[in-house]
Amino acid sequence: MQSREAYGKLLAWSRELAHLGTTMGLLHWDQRTHIPPKGHDNRAEQIATLARIHHQRETDPRAGEWLAAVEGTDLVTEPESAEAVNVREWRRSYDKAVKIPESLAVALAKAQAHGQSAWEKAKPQSDWAAFQPSLVELVGLRKEQAEVLGYEHEAYDALLDDYEPGAKAAEIEPVFRALRVATVKLLDRLRDLEQPKTVVVGKDYPLIDQERACMAVAARLGYDLEAGRLDTTMHPFSTCIGPGDARITTSYDPQDFTDALFSVVHEAGHAMYSQGQPKEHHGTPRGEYASLSVHESQSRMWENFVGRSPGFWAFFQPYFQMIFPALRDVSAHDAQRWVSRVQPGYIRVQADELTYNLHVMLRFDLELAVMRGKLGVADLPEAWDGKMQDYLGLKPPCHAKGVMQDVHWSGGLFGYFPTYTLGNIYAAQFFAAAQQELGDMGDMFARGEFAPLLGWLRREIHSRGKTLLARDLVQRVTGQEPDARYLVEHLTARCERAYYL
Ligand SMILES: [Zn+2]
Repeated sequence: MQSREAYGKLLAWSRELAHLGTTMGLLHWDQRTHIPPKGHDNRAEQIATLARIHHQRETDPRAGEWLAAVEGTDLVTEPESAEAVNVREWRRSYDKAVKIPESLAVALAKAQAHGQSAWEKAKPQSDWAAFQPSLVELVGLRKEQAEVLGYEHEAYDALLDDYEPGAKAAEIEPVFRALRVATVKLLDRLRDLEQPKTVVVGKDYPLIDQERACMAVAARLGYDLEAGRLDTTMHPFSTCIGPGDARITTSYDPQDFTDALFSVVHEAGHAMYSQGQPKEHHGTPRGEYASLSVHESQSRMWENFVGRSPGFWAFFQPYFQMIFPALRDVSAHDAQRWVSRVQPGYIRVQADELTYNLHVMLRFDLELAVMRGKLGVADLPEAWDGKMQDYLGLKPPCHAKGVMQDVHWSGGLFGYFPTYTLGNIYAAQFFAAAQQELGDMGDMFARGEFAPLLGWLRREIHSRGKTLLARDLVQRVTGQEPDARYLVEHLTARCERAYYL
């Protein structure tokens, strides 16, 4: 077969897979926002059916033949052409899909389902012993999977590749180490200082007004509401259904408006990335996000570098005061200090901007040690508590607030956690590069001008799709290797301002 013809077949194959995938995404979205309680059983079956069809199509042996007919031909000589990018990434995903024997795939799916239900049952009781066997099984199967998939340096990299294509644990370690040391040092400086006044929480924020304010903020930042929508859910998420349809969700705390505000800004950051991807390449890797960490760099940039900045509060606080009488006496300065506060706690998802990364790095250290065979699953609780003490100076009162708090490991998601902190590191590095070109953005934000930043992100990151892997993208956009220095500088400046250091 001619390479052109084979490439055409691959394009159609890829687009069909994307349609199946995003249709499942739409069903998931509905399941978490609008489905009636009695609809869940049927929904699980619908999703399972689509997943089965998706897997059959994904492993279609003809795709392997088409790939072989295209690879090494003139069509893919220019490495950053759409054709070369697509073929590179199709090869990556196709190999992954076909290398795993069905027996292993079935065992993994079962162990994941068991792991999650065991975790759900055991967590409320902090019953590690009841959960441990499921985790032992999952670790064993994921190690087996890594061996089947193959890797250059170590097994963990094979798992990491699912979320961060091409990333290596050994490259992440020194970047994280620098961030950890600096964060712990900064945290020490803040210990025993007086906390910013609680000026925002514990007041009355009618939900209808919260929703209106959140939509207004998201729209002002550049989220296109005609290509998206905001709905209510338990645990906020965003989902891209396709060009012209990138949705966000949030939950509301009637006594703390900033809860919904920051989750909306975060999810809108994800959705704006989706809205900025090249439509003409939809359904192919060239039109997709680069990696989970790059996705997270976008949400974190809007949430923390924009949403928690003095300029943002200078611009929006008069508007918030108009909507919420409870905020009439709260100055932009006090509100911004409050949202910058640092308070070490046990729970990752409730952590502030500074300590959040310590939670993530702790998990990365532990799962890496387990995958390297340096730590047994049975030793995780003790190792967890030890690291909590070292990094955050806290001892969890129970496993539910310690080693058992996250859902990730119960589903066998090893290699996922580092993407959160990589996202923060990349956000800082991208933001510094944007600022170098656009000038100080604090004044722009204070004038309500967010388009220059979004325009820069569109050009430098969104429009590139998956052309470059995350590390190469950072290098290309900022001229430097990934470096935690920019995040440390940002966090230091923020804390110094909030605590009058
Ligand atoms: Zn996110």
